[in-house]
Amino acid sequence: TCNRDDKDKGVNVQVVLRCRPFSDDDVRAKTASVVTCNEGKQEVIVTQNMGNKQSDKTFCFDKVFGPASKQKDLYDQVVYPIVKEALEGYNWTIFAYGQTGTGKTYTMEGEGGKTKNGEFHEDVGVIPRAVEQLFDTIKAQNAEYSMKVTYIELYNEEITDLLAPDDKSKKPISLMEDGKGAVFMRGLEEELVSSADEIYQILERGSSRKHTAETLINTQSNRSHSLFTITIQIKENTSDGVEIIKCGKLNLVDLAGSENILRSGAREGRAREAGEINKSLLTLGRVINALADHSGHVPYRDSKLTRLLRDSLGGKTKTCIIATVSLSIHSLEETQNTLDYAYRAK
Ligand code: ADP
Ligand code: MG
Repeated sequence: TCNRDDKDKGVNVQVVLRCRPFSDDDVRAKTASVVTCNEGKQEVIVTQNMGNKQSDKTFCFDKVFGPASKQKDLYDQVVYPIVKEALEGYNWTIFAYGQTGTGKTYTMEGEGGKTKNGEFHEDVGVIPRAVEQLFDTIKAQNAEYSMKVTYIELYNEEITDLLAPDDKSKKPISLMEDGKGAVFMRGLEEELVSSADEIYQILERGSSRKHTAETLINTQSNRSHSLFTITIQIKENTSDGVEIIKCGKLNLVDLAGSENILRSGAREGRAREAGEINKSLLTLGRVINALADHSGHVPYRDSKLTRLLRDSLGGKTKTCIIATVSLSIHSLEETQNTLDYAYRAK
């Protein structure tokens, strides 16, 4: 039931599935599992009981990480090669997509810092590990480089700069277009960085800003996207003495909870509101689908997120979607929606 014929359509979209383990509450409540991950075959099976009939549906992905997978497994197998390419001058975007509570933030940011012997705590996520790999590689090559980071939050099609000094933080950032159609953000704080520790501090500052906002509007974090972007320029001398500058970019995106996406026909009023709130999530799906089927018109302009990431979606750039799901029977419908969205992106 897994059709892999259409796998390589020449599109640089990679889709990875991660299933989180049961929480302690789920274990106590003996919640039933409806998801089986077959990591060897890179497939996920969802089981649904209808009356006395059981139906299984199988989805294939580029990689599958089951509930016992560790942050380091996902990093080594998926993100390590991506960061290597960013250092070679490619643009890469990694999205975490899934229902609230399934581990998007855990996957992208994770928890904990470094242990006494300088190793990462096992719960540390993609972003800090990527930062370390970038600096380790640059140091090993002894290369001349410049690195900049930005950190923004997108909520209700409004952009907030998570790195702005406090007095400016209230003012939304506007998206501008230059004469050539390139999009940029006016007034955005860009920080030049020269060490991993500096980025960790920036991340902490930005994330705490995000979390303060969360307590004010407690649903905001589920409805907002956060984008952490690292731009790297590395100077290299070729063997015949020519100087080249490689410019790469990494966009690390923690998307709004996928339960906010507009569902076809479902509960008109509420669905429309959800659609307004998450135009960006909906448009992102359409853009990725249009890129995957080469269907001509790619609706980048329909949302802020896709306008912002236009130079990082399609063309020569590469995209990785980490779709996150839970095992629980209570999330069955959202799990199916996530798997459908992710599978369609391939
Ligand atoms: P989301 O960002 O998708 O809403 P979170 O990343 O905040 O979800 O995860 C919700 C909770 O579940 C957090 O307490 C997190 O530590 C835990 N969690 C999520 N994924 C995992 C995982 N793969 N392993 C262990 N704990 C996880
Ligand atoms: Mg989150």
